[in-house]
Amino acid sequence: MTVDARYAVVGHPVAHSLSPQIHAQFARQTGERVDYAAIDVPPEAFADFWRTGPGRGLAGANVTLPLKGLARDLVDQLSERAAEAAAVNTIIRLDQHRLRGDNTDGIGLVRDLERLEWPLGGRRLLVIGAGGAARGILRPLLDRGPASLTIANRTPARAIALAARFGSELVPCALTELGAAGRFDGVIHASAAGHAVGLELPATLADKDSWCYDLSYGHAARGFVTWARAAGARTAEGLGMLVEQAAESFFLWRGVRPDPAPVHRLLSKEQAKSHE
Ligand code: NAP
Repeated sequence: MTVDARYAVVGHPVAHSLSPQIHAQFARQTGERVDYAAIDVPPEAFADFWRTGPGRGLAGANVTLPLKGLARDLVDQLSERAAEAAAVNTIIRLDQHRLRGDNTDGIGLVRDLERLEWPLGGRRLLVIGAGGAARGILRPLLDRGPASLTIANRTPARAIALAARFGSELVPCALTELGAAGRFDGVIHASAAGHAVGLELPATLADKDSWCYDLSYGHAARGFVTWARAAGARTAEGLGMLVEQAAESFFLWRGVRPDPAPVHRLLSKEQAKSHE
């Protein structure tokens, strides 16, 4: 097949990424003749990758851990949502010398919550975590008009800094204060704790009328999902968000919007099989 443009997901490590599979499905669906690879680039090599390395041959890229902040500093133009998130997950090549950075994580999450028909407007919401992923989802969540949005983090100073940036709409707190925070309609787990030791969360945060969404998926989401199910809440993992943010990136690059639903179904089936 003649390829019109090359794209990649760039991270460190990146071998585990599902993005090549997702974008191959999108390309098949839309008939776009594109190639999409996973490229491991350590942080210290990221700028040269774009200036003098293989990045020069890419029409765009997804950027994942730990490069999202570096990508923000590298690009020549930033979308409003990437500037607000201080993180870039999508790079679009404008011409030979100029790159634009965008962030599709937040819209990806909100579209997946809409798919699930989980309400945001007028609801009491909690986001756990204050890293790159949390920063990317705050504005799209606030735009849906929640009654309140609390952000809880292990290091409270980071939650406080975010609240200062987003204004009084955001209520910061420490993870250790959550026992006194009451019940939430929606709890979004956006920390990286599931990749390591997991989190100890109070049972009072959610009940049978709440929904709980983990941005991680698979093994990393297991602890949070188990906690949420014990509280009687509805639960979902971040696979849907991953597919939705990828669809938005694909649209930014190609001007064609793929259908995320069949790709999400396929990946969910494969994930379920791999956990059998
Ligand atoms: P990050 O920038 O490294 O942020 C890490 C966050 O996790 C910080 O708030 C950190 O707290 C907290 N944390 C880490 N270990 C912890 C622990 N043991 N206990 C309590 N808190 C802990 O990572 P990120 O980019 O925000 O990613 C967060 C998660 O979202 C990851 O699991 C990632 O896979 C997932 N994600 C999913 C999607 C998707 O499309 N589904 C997209 C983006 C991210 P401190 O500030 O105290 O260090």
